[in-house]
Amino acid sequence: MSKKKKNTKFYSTLAFDDRTMKKCLSDKVYKKLKLVIDQGAELSLKDADEIAAAMKDWAIKHGATHFTHWFQPLSGTTSEKHDSFLVPKGDAGKAILSFSGKDLIKGESDASSLPSGGLRATFEARGYTAWDPSSNAFIKDEVLCIPTAFCSYNGDALDKKTPLLRSQDALKTQVTRFMMLFDNTPERVIVNIGAEQEFFLIPEDTYAQREDLVMCGRTLFGNKPAKGQELEEHYFGSIRPTVNNYLKLVDEELWALGISVHTKHNEAAPSQHELAPIYTNANRAVDENLIMMEKMKLLASKFNMACLLHERPFDGINGSGKHCNWSISADGKNLLDPGTSDEDNLRFFAVLACVIAAVDDYQELLRMSVASIGNDLRLGGNEAPPAIVSIFLGSDLDKMIKAISSGKSYQSLKDEMDLGVSVLPRIMRDGSDRNRTSPFAFTANKFEFRMPGSQVNLSDSITVLNTAFASALSDFCDQLDKSKLELDDAVMTIAATTINKHKRILFDGDGYSKDWEREAKKRDLTNYKTTAEALKCISDKKSIKLFEKFNVLSETELKSRYVIKLEKYNKLMNIEATVMHRMTKRQYIPAISAYASEIARQIKECSISKVNLKHQKILLDELLEGLNNIHEALYFVNDLNRRAKRIKNEQKRADFNANKLAPSMLNLRNAVDRMEHITARDYWPVPSYNNMLFYT
Ligand code: ADP
Ligand code: MG
Repeated sequence: MSKKKKNTKFYSTLAFDDRTMKKCLSDKVYKKLKLVIDQGAELSLKDADEIAAAMKDWAIKHGATHFTHWFQPLSGTTSEKHDSFLVPKGDAGKAILSFSGKDLIKGESDASSLPSGGLRATFEARGYTAWDPSSNAFIKDEVLCIPTAFCSYNGDALDKKTPLLRSQDALKTQVTRFMMLFDNTPERVIVNIGAEQEFFLIPEDTYAQREDLVMCGRTLFGNKPAKGQELEEHYFGSIRPTVNNYLKLVDEELWALGISVHTKHNEAAPSQHELAPIYTNANRAVDENLIMMEKMKLLASKFNMACLLHERPFDGINGSGKHCNWSISADGKNLLDPGTSDEDNLRFFAVLACVIAAVDDYQELLRMSVASIGNDLRLGGNEAPPAIVSIFLGSDLDKMIKAISSGKSYQSLKDEMDLGVSVLPRIMRDGSDRNRTSPFAFTANKFEFRMPGSQVNLSDSITVLNTAFASALSDFCDQLDKSKLELDDAVMTIAATTINKHKRILFDGDGYSKDWEREAKKRDLTNYKTTAEALKCISDKKSIKLFEKFNVLSETELKSRYVIKLEKYNKLMNIEATVMHRMTKRQYIPAISAYASEIARQIKECSISKVNLKHQKILLDELLEGLNNIHEALYFVNDLNRRAKRIKNEQKRADFNANKLAPSMLNLRNAVDRMEHITARDYWPVPSYNNMLFYT
């Protein structure tokens, strides 16, 4: 069989997708399930029983022995607890394979060790999982995985999926209301997401020798390799065979799960790559991305490689992001694509104005949604957008926006800009995205949010975007409702006012430059450099008002997220500082000391020679002085780490970690890294950047 034929044949075989549902379910139940998926209708237990039986038979046929409610707790990863299909029947040593509608729809789990941020007291520690039929169930390692939402006894969302689904509903309601003004009531409104996943792939033996990589996912020490990415030879270069073989297997396994990974290429830094699937609805896209990350990590081992998903595994070369491409479609029509009629164009202007308003109004929440230690190290680096949120539209669209905001009517705009209905789409396609430095860029018919880091669960960002957009669109519709003007004049006027109010967020210059930082300050845009600063806005009045208005998150749910994110930040800082201590004390200091002793021994032994041993002595002095500096720097790291742990208030502790502990860790790193240059290779206790990043 040709490879191509084989690919299409095994595509989606391990997903309980639409095609399989149609095949396995009665016509009546299939149609009911579609209503549940598309319109959120209720499912009867009887129908659920039929679906469960079909799912079980299909799963067992494909080798599954267990099932699990697969969910995304607030730690951002995924959770699963496997239950066997097999249950004993009677006393005669018999067993049956059982999986009921109840098993499918709802689960109960003792989730006391999962983070709840105070939403769940230990005495009522149980959490409940509820089937999310809008994302496909799938088989992974002989386990039927059922995507589920996760909530507490009181119904508070304890996961990342629930708010995402709620934000989709909020957006759907507002988009429908908006479209109805154009005499169009869409049946299906979908948020589409395409996530571009960057990662590093390095030899597993080098990875295993580095405690920092194993424990923290990033190197806490190490000098930039002699050759970094300055020659720009890696980007889009030919993919080396090891990596290619690995990616082929990743492709195959993901395709079998119905995840259409599509694009793969080398990225800018040595050993850095990107893998992107074809976009799909937001809820599925997030699930798929989580499965993809898991597979990428697990499969690397088969090739004696390690896949690094951290945002900044190596200092001095690019970090990894996860660009989030976002668009909205109504009955298959992309609302960020101008279309071919006057009405489409007007609708497009309104949507664009609302995106601008949403991003400006809630810039701090967008920044918050991507905040992590790793991303703090990445944002503002030379390859990633800065910590300032801004929008890039492209020069043609910019021109158009300027014309609209100066109060032009649609007719005069058309005349002036030669805006034939067929011209607009062309302009957009040609003129969009010449600026890779922008955090939020219009790219032909979607926006690309480039701030998310490579290991983040995208749900938070998409939830913020959806809700902020729903809010802007709701305001827009309120104004349209009140306007006495004809529809096109009303749209143009309100779009003009909206854009004028929010134009400070538009920026088409170099986002990496210092000038922009100064300019952004003048425009009063936020620039939160650390997670400690960025998290504060989650539970402020403005955020609570937004999320409560659209029933996405309650005040208590928001507060729990704030606490969990802060705790995670503080715990990771503590882990990093502790790993630094261990590596310094147990690896670097003994290695440098041994080398210094060796040099001292040589100097002593060679003292009978007439040669002036000046340089050998300088080297010895440098080593001894370096050791002193390391001891000194380590003392501060340990002291500050201890003091941080004593601070009870998590926000204060986070501020302390960001402003005091983190700089001391950098200081220690520099002290150790300086010694790497002058210590003999055989003495250096861990693989260097060269060893890890350049392999065949
Ligand atoms: P880039 O040139 O930005 O690196 P890629 O091809 O690597 O582009 O990735 C683009 C991503 O955007 C893919 O996942 C793609 O499926 C997705 N995408 C394309 N069109 C849309 C859309 N309308 N809405 C959301 N995502 C989209
Ligand atoms: Mg790409």
